[in-house]
Amino acid sequence: MTTTAAPAAAPYRFFDVHVVRARRLSTSMVRITFGGERLDALVSGGRDQRFKVFLPQPHQTVPVFADMGDGWYTAWRAQDPAERPVMRSYTIREQRPETGEFDVDFALHGADGPAAAVAGGPASRWAAGARPGDRLTVLAPAVEDNGGVDFRPPPGTDWILLTGDETALPAIAGILSWLSPGTRAKVWIEIGHEDDRQQLPTFADAEITWLVRDPATAARTEPVQDALRTAELPGGKPYAWIAGEAGTVKAVRRHLVGERGFDRRAVKFTGYWRRGATEEELLAELTAAAAKSTRQAA
Ligand SMILES: Cc1cc2nc3c(=O)[nH]c(=O)nc-3n(C[C@H](O)[C@H](O)[C@H](O)COP(=O)(O)OP(=O)(O)OC[C@H]3O[C@@H](n4cnc5c(N)ncnc54)[C@H](O)[C@@H]3O)c2cc1C
Repeated sequence: MTTTAAPAAAPYRFFDVHVVRARRLSTSMVRITFGGERLDALVSGGRDQRFKVFLPQPHQTVPVFADMGDGWYTAWRAQDPAERPVMRSYTIREQRPETGEFDVDFALHGADGPAAAVAGGPASRWAAGARPGDRLTVLAPAVEDNGGVDFRPPPGTDWILLTGDETALPAIAGILSWLSPGTRAKVWIEIGHEDDRQQLPTFADAEITWLVRDPATAARTEPVQDALRTAELPGGKPYAWIAGEAGTVKAVRRHLVGERGFDRRAVKFTGYWRRGATEEELLAELTAAAAKSTRQAA
């Protein structure tokens, strides 16, 4: 995961936002349009621009922070987990400065079973029930060139490889819309349902393959890995961007570097979630690992 142990506050800023619209795009995806005061100061770098969402606890109407200044992260960690805002990572799908709005596409994991109301996680459940006027806080970029954009192909790249699942679909859409005309791109996207396919406007010369999971075998199959293993890849210098479930991301990276000879520096890989772990648990692991390496260095 790239969820850093202490998310940087600068050049990021807190913005209080509210839901303007919630639109169900498909079985697994809902698009939430956010508005708010001072949103003219939010500047997305496009592509896979990540940011943090802070949700209220179920018994609150707004997220309750102990401190929103420079020491916010230490204060947030010290807060009672049942009271502090729930922090999650998402992607800015599209920003419209002219209307002061931005969109976020939430994957509703666990949304199609009989236990939909209690399945998934806090963010997925919040998105499934979001109504105009609902309020939350985001930590989002205030300058266009910021550290929350990972898709940065080096000069001399001949073609682009993208893989991801529903959680990476907003970033893949942002990347495809950003690519220069004629850029060669090969894209594999794993989705839960046929209707999760989206139109992905691009000037690139993009070949997009949608891989629909079979619910009967979903836990045992790896559609992206299987498709890649037999894929014919172009020659020339590639740049790969891989996101989605952490185990899949790792395996795809290993395949590209180990079996396809990709330069490891030309492979940007990010676990967006990990099967069986909440984002808090992943953050706790990272914090413990960072503390351990500090102790070892001392
Ligand atoms: C940089 C970055 C950008 C991201 N952008 C987006 C985005 O734009 N849209 C988006 O939908 N997600 C995005 N994600 C992924 C999202 O943050 C995670 O899916 C997150 O765990 C959802 O929080 P939650 O509260 O719903 O579930 P959590 O409380 O974190 O997890 C609860 C349980 O659900 C499981 N789980 C989490 N996500 C999924 C999933 N997709 N499918 C199946 N099981 C899951 C976990 O393994 C855990 O067992 C992004 C992640 C990162 C790191």
